[in-house]
Amino acid sequence: MDCSTCREMMLEFVEGTLPAKVAAGVAEHVKSCPSCMKELEKQSSRTRVLQSLGRVQAPDQWEEISRSIRRTGPWYFVTKYGIVAVIAGIVAAVAIVAAIAFLPALRHASPSGSSSNPSPAPAESAGR
Ligand SMILES: [Zn+2]
Repeated sequence: MDCSTCREMMLEFVEGTLPAKVAAGVAEHVKSCPSCMKELEKQSSRTRVLQSLGRVQAPDQWEEISRSIRRTGPWYFVTKYGIVAVIAGIVAAVAIVAAIAFLPALRHASPSGSSSNPSPAPAESAGR
């Protein structure tokens, strides 16, 4: 194992989450590499400090968030992005939905006329 691979694995090594075989490789490299040994000691002490802090409960902010949503209402996007951007977004959404809805129908209606199908229909070429 080289130094850069060892450094990549170090945090997981310290946390004890590496597969046994990989952890043994890291341990073997660290024993013979003073530079990685030093890094491992730093990483270990950092991890110990973080673990000593224990778990922290995130504050419950759902009430505040839902109140904020109710307060701004449907005009939120208009006030944030402007009326032109909102209308452009609605037009784009309608265009996409229309394209998805009507594209297969158009293809079936004119199989030889579209540029996506360059080869002529057999019935047409046989008539000339
Ligand atoms: Zn090393």
